[in-house]
Amino acid sequence: MKTLVWVEHDGKAVKDATLAVVTAASKLGEVHLLVAGSGVDAVAKEAAGIAGVGKVHVADNAAFGHNLPENVAPLVAELMGSHDAFLAPATTTGKNIAPRVAALLDVMQISEILSVEGPKTFTRPIYAGNAIATVESSDAKLVLTVRGTAFDKAATSGGSGTVEAVGAGSDAGISSFVGAEIAKSERPELTSAKIIVSGGRALGSSEKYEEVIVPLADKLGAALGASRAAVDAGYVPNDYQVGQTGKIVAPQVYFAIGISGAIQHLAGMKDSKTIVAINKDEDAPIFQVADFGLVADLFNAVPELTGKI
Ligand code: FAD
Repeated sequence: MKTLVWVEHDGKAVKDATLAVVTAASKLGEVHLLVAGSGVDAVAKEAAGIAGVGKVHVADNAAFGHNLPENVAPLVAELMGSHDAFLAPATTTGKNIAPRVAALLDVMQISEILSVEGPKTFTRPIYAGNAIATVESSDAKLVLTVRGTAFDKAATSGGSGTVEAVGAGSDAGISSFVGAEIAKSERPELTSAKIIVSGGRALGSSEKYEEVIVPLADKLGAALGASRAAVDAGYVPNDYQVGQTGKIVAPQVYFAIGISGAIQHLAGMKDSKTIVAINKDEDAPIFQVADFGLVADLFNAVPELTGKI
């Protein structure tokens, strides 16, 4: 089987999310990559070095400069004439492109695969991760999004893929890039951080989040996260949200502070290697998944913990 993997990048380097997708694709067959963008020579070179990659298709065109799915999806659909499966990371960008590709090919998308069980058989979460379904495709072509935390990352070196330019592509003219406001932060990115400190509704305000959660994260070199309740209450920006409708994370250590452990939150973090929960309610559901639980008032316990690190 010939697979085509969408390479997520920022114009300069391949994003980590791609590496897990390469591993998933290698379980199906030959791995080809698609690097689309404007001025992406360096990305294509880096992509060709990823272990296990056979070929890198490069579509270098201003129309692909900002990952506009309306422009990218037709390109992918065209390349699918000579590939059997398209795989993209289950990220915002991947989830923006893959369904459009599936629609153009008139096939079913299989979302957020967790494992490859056979050439057309996969597992995927349902009911916010409370059950795992095994699904089999009956379509001639596969379109899959891949949950990054479910697959090991392919090595970034050791590959010797060939680089091949593909058709010029064009601007579909139905969307345009207006601008991007990108938050600049010295912190690790939430989805690739080794340690995450998350705060919940119990914090009560953005000032308390800053005062209690941020110093602990600083000491640990951790990324910052939050429950949806904390996001909805405006304590932190949207992109901090962990969970079913936020980010799916699986760090080495996850701190859930003043977070009850609703299933929608657990759906985003329960695969973390070690979970530390601080909650004043000993019956809070978060303690059912926690490796270390502290029943305490967070406003006392967290500053004390931070002080001792
Ligand atoms: P609460 O449930 O209010 O919990 C606060 C906790 O803090 C309690 O356990 C309390 O005992 C504890 N506490 C209070 N004071 C203190 C103190 N001083 N010291 C220590 N502990 C204290 N939620 C997400 O997080 N992510 C999602 O992606 C998400 N998606 C959703 C999608 C849908 C369709 C729906 C319906 C809901 C979704 N939710 C999501 C919301 C989810 O159901 C919960 O409402 C939310 O996770 C609760 O956030 P919380 O734990 O911060 O707040």
